[in-house]
Amino acid sequence: MMKIFLIIPIFLLFSCASPKDEDSIKGQKYVTCYAWLGGPGNDSDLELEEYFTDLKNKGIDGLMYNGGQDPATYSRVGKIAKKAGLEFHSWIPTMMQRSNPALQEEWYAVNGLGESAYDKPAYVDYYKFLCPSHEEVYLFLENMYSKVADVPEVDGIHLDYIRFPDVILAEGLWKKYGLVMDREYPQYDYCYCDLCVGNFKDLTGIDIRAVEDPSQVPEWKQFRYDLITNIVNRLVEVVHARNKEINAAVFPGPNSIARKIVRQEWNKWNLDAFYPMNYNDFYLKDTKWIGEVCNEGVTALNNRKPLYSGLFICPNPENKTDEPDPENHGLTPEELEDAIRESVENGAAGICLFTPERMTDAHWEVFAEAIRKDFTK
Ligand SMILES: [Zn+2]
Repeated sequence: MMKIFLIIPIFLLFSCASPKDEDSIKGQKYVTCYAWLGGPGNDSDLELEEYFTDLKNKGIDGLMYNGGQDPATYSRVGKIAKKAGLEFHSWIPTMMQRSNPALQEEWYAVNGLGESAYDKPAYVDYYKFLCPSHEEVYLFLENMYSKVADVPEVDGIHLDYIRFPDVILAEGLWKKYGLVMDREYPQYDYCYCDLCVGNFKDLTGIDIRAVEDPSQVPEWKQFRYDLITNIVNRLVEVVHARNKEINAAVFPGPNSIARKIVRQEWNKWNLDAFYPMNYNDFYLKDTKWIGEVCNEGVTALNNRKPLYSGLFICPNPENKTDEPDPENHGLTPEELEDAIRESVENGAAGICLFTPERMTDAHWEVFAEAIRKDFTK
């Protein structure tokens, strides 16, 4: 994953040694910039330090770092990130959990056909989502995140996959998966386990398994939004008690997309910051749409917490039009400034790159200019 770093020319490494000089040449930075990054793989401390220093000099302020669930990894990598002057958040998926001795098979979510995400996940093999109704699931998450939040080098916990599986897939992905998702289909609709169905019946009197089209029952939707909201807000208490921040990667919206396709009512979450994945190409939209969903998000949050606009970068811009896989689409260098401007003009407190490794030299050139413009004026 960090191969890019290994071929950074020597002169660039030397120029990294004096970030202040570089700042004074390029001028004041206005846009706060985070980046999603995974690792550390086999990288040595020195390799990580040089890579992080390079990112800092390019204008990145903090990392959402995915390094598994072992606190020791975050301690080691976090120390290096701090040395490079970066904020450091541990990015760890929440509801999506691979097989693990600490997790029983019956705690995984069940779809409308009665199939478990444990052994028959939707779309892709790794879509093993847990059921949010099981207290044991919450306790597993609390235990796992607490240990990471206790690491002194960790500034915050960054939740991801804090949701149900996509009951509707983003339209830009339909072709890839050979689907037309014009409505909710039972094989992608969760969770119909005995516990969820029973709790919902107790609460509302409705037997959801007896309903012909559950997508027409607003109480059933709200019940599932609330299950996720409750987990988030309980985790907020636990992480705050450790004097750490907690934030999340969320779907755009919340109303236009996140609630509808992954059942995230994130405007009700007590997080410190929100990172909507405003990946316009997944929704067959342009950069103007990025501004629209930023505006929607900050309005829904009533500006009470910062929103950082997640931007999906195209790794091979010259091939974008011929590229069949939407996961290789994303913002070209020509679109990047617009995406940043649309985000900030519409209330975002900054941006978050997915990912720095997908950025070409041309992207970084545009980026360096754009983050030094004051789009709030
Ligand atoms: Zn369930």
